[in-house]
Amino acid sequence: MSAQKLTLAIQKSGRLSDGSKDLLKLCGIKVGNGSNQFKAVAEGFPLEILLLRDDDIPQYVADGVADIGILGMNEVLEKKKEVKVIRNLGFSRCRLSVALPRNAEYTGRSYLQGKRIATSYPAILEDFLAENKIDAEIHAISGSVEIAPGIGLADAIFEIVSSGGTLLSNGLKEVEVIMQSEAVLISNPHLSAEKQALLDKLTFRMEAVQKARRNKYILLNAPEEKLDKIIALIPGMKSPTILPLAQKGWASLHSVVSEDDFWEVIDNLKEAGAEGILVVPIEKMVL
Ligand code: ATP
Ligand code: MG
Repeated sequence: MSAQKLTLAIQKSGRLSDGSKDLLKLCGIKVGNGSNQFKAVAEGFPLEILLLRDDDIPQYVADGVADIGILGMNEVLEKKKEVKVIRNLGFSRCRLSVALPRNAEYTGRSYLQGKRIATSYPAILEDFLAENKIDAEIHAISGSVEIAPGIGLADAIFEIVSSGGTLLSNGLKEVEVIMQSEAVLISNPHLSAEKQALLDKLTFRMEAVQKARRNKYILLNAPEEKLDKIIALIPGMKSPTILPLAQKGWASLHSVVSEDDFWEVIDNLKEAGAEGILVVPIEKMVL
């Protein structure tokens, strides 16, 4: 039997492509040039890469042309294809929001009743309107949705927002966030056992990379009598490493801290008597 490969679909170029390639790189997979502009070869993993428009990825994965794909959760929900969401990947974060002309007075969701709403996410909007029992007219357009109210095509828009700059420059204001989105890894729901094993290996690497991103390695010096208190603040993966310093009565302590409560931990460590605190990024983390 020939060696199995997984086929991964990623966005050819756009807001997902750098994040997708960076994640693969950190997983030890280099994306090289392939035989044509829609295919790339991967080094470091039995992987074949398809370079596609993100809109097409759900269909390709559902049909099994690609086994797995990386794309925004917003597209997964919009396309409603039969695919399995394997994990959140933590990049290309954005939100889908309702925005109105700056001078409109939003009175809550019922404001949208009977209105014309322009969007490039008609399926998600339709679900939202149905859930909220709102009867509104959906104008599906594929690009530059933000200009629709200005040219009299719509009363409101439902679109992706990240910084809000595009809304502002079109005289719009965000009035309600309907969903949050980020890049996700999806798979065909009927992978062979061999392909599933490869996918498990790949997700194991992704987990190690994502965990590492959320944590920092911390080194500090402390007087020996203060160690117990300090250890309680940074328990680390198992327990911290303690090394004696050349200066008597002092030790160096190494551990791991989560980025979420990082600054608070640092403040507490200083208060507990830690000195010379160094914080360094972690590249991979396997528990
Ligand atoms: P394609 O040509 O592949 O169809 P596109 O124009 O549809 O590309 P992009 O603008 O590159 O798509 O966005 C791809 C995905 O990135 C979106 O579906 C969304 O998940 C995410 N995204 C979109 N806008 C932003 C943003 N401003 N910040 C972060 N992520 C975003
Ligand atoms: Mg697209």
